[in-house]
Amino acid sequence: MALIEVTNLKKAFDQVEVLKQITFTVEKNDVIAVIGPSGSGKSTMLRSLIHLEEINGGSILVDGDYLVQDGVYAKSQDIKALTAKMGMVFQHFNLFPHLTVQQNLEMAPRLLKTESVEAISSRCHDLLKKTGLADKAAAYPANLSGGQKQRVAIARALMMNPQILLFDEPTSALDPELTGEVLKVMKNLAEDHMTMIVVTHEMGFAREVANKVVFMDGGQIIESDHPDNFFTNPQNDRTKAFLQKNL
Ligand code: ADP
Ligand code: MG
Repeated sequence: MALIEVTNLKKAFDQVEVLKQITFTVEKNDVIAVIGPSGSGKSTMLRSLIHLEEINGGSILVDGDYLVQDGVYAKSQDIKALTAKMGMVFQHFNLFPHLTVQQNLEMAPRLLKTESVEAISSRCHDLLKKTGLADKAAAYPANLSGGQKQRVAIARALMMNPQILLFDEPTSALDPELTGEVLKVMKNLAEDHMTMIVVTHEMGFAREVANKVVFMDGGQIIESDHPDNFFTNPQNDRTKAFLQKNL
């Protein structure tokens, strides 16, 4: 069974259609790279999946249950439960500046009160180790590099044990010399079979790590394929033009 099925998703802002009948499927263990020009609807598509945007039509099925079916949303409790299966990492990290790294990671699971403080703290230490931040638990975001902040954001998203991670241009705000350390963490997650959708301009990552590349333009999915085919044998003229400019 697919983890996420999006069917005919439509989204408009003030009559302007920014997503036009988007349809795609995410299988468990997929790493999907979403590429496309600025304004093509990539962020709106990701934000719709976790209900940061309300869509105007179509369906989103998450792990077998409808978040929204033919434009009608599930009950708010169900929306909460379904969006909790997804974690999101933003371009600008969105860490809490007044909390330490450890507090950033532990806040959401502690609020849930479904686990012991010890279990939460133990997972926090595991994830900080996994993201190369074992010595940063007591640091504040202001004292971290951009690459470290983004790795904290990834660890924080993982604290909620999501079934899928959504990344919206996770390295676009970073100095070039810091993108590698973040991409490495993401690559490790992929190797651990984390399901991911990654909106990115990093064509190397798309080519090496993704098992599917989706090209969006003008609110539509123009083309999608395995990276081996996508980059060597693009079918659509818009895809070809985009790759010519961005490879
Ligand atoms: P991308 O992430 O591919 O750059 P976005 O999803 O951010 O594209 O934006 C798609 C289109 O929707 C753009 O034309 C953008 O201006 C518009 N848009 C995005 N968010 C809003 C909003 N909150 N209000 C009005 N228009 C928006
Ligand atoms: Mg965007």
